Amino acid sequence: MAYKIDKEKCIACGACVSSCPISCIKLEDKAEIDQTMCVACGTCESVCPVSAPKAE
Ligand code: SF4
Ligand code: SF4
Repeated sequence: MAYKIDKEKCIACGACVSSCPISCIKLEDKAEIDQTMCVACGTCESVCPVSAPKAE
C-alpha cells in the first residue's frame, strides 16, 4: 500500500512535504508522492488541512 495525493484537493501548502519521515513527497504546482518509496505511515494525511493524501 502507498499514499497518493488528490491533486484536485491539494492547495500546495507544503505541510506534508516537511512531515514525511522519508522525504518522499515533492512539491511542484501540487504535492506528489513517490509511491515506490512511501511506507504508508499516514503522517501526510494527518497533517494535511484538506485531506488530500489517501491510501490506495
Ligand atoms: S504515508 Fe508516510 S511515507 Fe508515505 S508519503 Fe505520507 S508521510 Fe510519506
Ligand atoms: S499537506 Fe495537503 S494541501 Fe498541503 S501540500 Fe500536502 S497534500 Fe497539498
